[in-house]
Amino acid sequence: MEDCLFCKIVSGEIPSTKVYEDEKTLCFKDINPEAPVHVLVIPKKHISNINELSKDDEEIIGHIFGVIKKVTKELGISESGYRIVSNCNEDAGQTVPHVHFHILGGKKLQVPMG
Ligand code: AMP
Ligand code: ZN
Repeated sequence: MEDCLFCKIVSGEIPSTKVYEDEKTLCFKDINPEAPVHVLVIPKKHISNINELSKDDEEIIGHIFGVIKKVTKELGISESGYRIVSNCNEDAGQTVPHVHFHILGGKKLQVPMG
């Protein structure tokens, strides 16, 4: 999608610090980290948010959780623990309208919600 920040990261038009990449997904460091480890996992395909998922997209979301398992191990936070966050639309504070999963870890995280 032309004007999407994360599509531009996928195409390389905007640089990112890549952590993992395969044919369907990309994982890169969040530019404004909220924890010692803060990376984003995104599908390369543009999907605005979870509301826009099609039945066919469910496979890639499942795949993303396999990627999360792999990268958290590589980043050394799988045993200590981490949080996965995906914001959808305004009330949740979604700022980039391309599906993304935050992975936060590397410290004892505050109990969130609301
Ligand atoms: P959200 O608020 O859930 O939509 O998350 C968007 C995230 O994207 C925020 O945590 C931002 O810090 C992050 N972000 C914005 N621009 C970039 C960028 N160019 N490279 C990496 N992360 C970014
Ligand atoms: Zn996009």
